[in-house]
Amino acid sequence: MQKVVTFLAAIMVAFTAFLIWPQKDQSEGIGDAEAPDRKETASTDTNPDESPEPVEPEPFELTLIHTNDTHTVMDNIARRASLIEEIRGASTNHLLLSAGDVTSWEIGRKAQDSLANAVFMNHLDYDGMVLGNHEFDLGEGVVDHGPLSTYVKNAAHPVLGANVDFSQDQFLEPYADYSYTDEPVDGRINKGFVQTVGDEQIGIFGITHYKEVVTVPGDVSFADYTQAAKDAVAHFESIGINKIVALTHIGIGHDRTLAKEVPGIDVIIGGHSHVTTNPPNHIGDTLVVQTGEYDTNLGELNVVFDEEGKIVDHSGKLHPTKNAEIHPDTARVQELFGEATALGIVSYEDFIGHVIKAGELDTYEAFIE
Ligand SMILES: [Zn+2]
Repeated sequence: MQKVVTFLAAIMVAFTAFLIWPQKDQSEGIGDAEAPDRKETASTDTNPDESPEPVEPEPFELTLIHTNDTHTVMDNIARRASLIEEIRGASTNHLLLSAGDVTSWEIGRKAQDSLANAVFMNHLDYDGMVLGNHEFDLGEGVVDHGPLSTYVKNAAHPVLGANVDFSQDQFLEPYADYSYTDEPVDGRINKGFVQTVGDEQIGIFGITHYKEVVTVPGDVSFADYTQAAKDAVAHFESIGINKIVALTHIGIGHDRTLAKEVPGIDVIIGGHSHVTTNPPNHIGDTLVVQTGEYDTNLGELNVVFDEEGKIVDHSGKLHPTKNAEIHPDTARVQELFGEATALGIVSYEDFIGHVIKAGELDTYEAFIE
């Protein structure tokens, strides 16, 4: 039996070679006669010692939609929603990111701030945020980060802080992973994460300001941001990622320092200075952007990466939110939030319960991807 199989296999190999051989000759002839472009020449290369030339890789276009220092100003949130939907609709690959200070600095409002930002950032489907200094302001009359930990727990996106040590903070330490995760994790604090967009992987990490500027940090401490950024870039590059975004809350001067001192960061989406970059600042190979303050503008940065992960083209603009249309879904979520607040609802779970009771979970959840 074994011999028969071997014999049949030999016949099939010979027959297959007979079929392939003349076709190969023919394709060479066509290739030569028509003086083809580079790709066809490569595919008809007859020298077995030379590996075929690689197919020219497509450039990768990515749209970064960004906000910073919104400080719980929700007046234009339904207009921001329309802009986000419009930009997402016009781009194939996009991310929505916040560079921090989503909460206000009013100590007595921390619980409400936490709930409002969890509700609306989840509804708008943010992909990630970095903690800003005002996120660490302590709760009313009590030295705790309870409201912030509630926000982190409910956030449907990773929260970042690569240079922050939470180990002495009983409220935040349970949520801190101190890692770069390959699987973006909701409701966790990470140093950074890998987000697959289209067919490409983007490394995103977060840096926030250290001690002297953080308003009321309590038991949280901060390491040198330049070293943390170098470590983040080294990590992503070690796993083959060459498109790297830093979400920072250190101010534009420090962003420029970071761009100069840490090679490998492609884009710095910054916050804290409340300034606008229009057009984006270009420092070495790094783009630095910031949108201003209080949800006045929504940032849009379009970048084109070559196969080495280098930005070869970009365009950036700031969209004034007040000029946009009101998005009906988000306007309805605002109404539901108002109803819930009037009912004394203070937890995210109870807010979702209110939305379910109103039969509008789809309105809350179904925001365009
Ligand atoms: Zn700030």
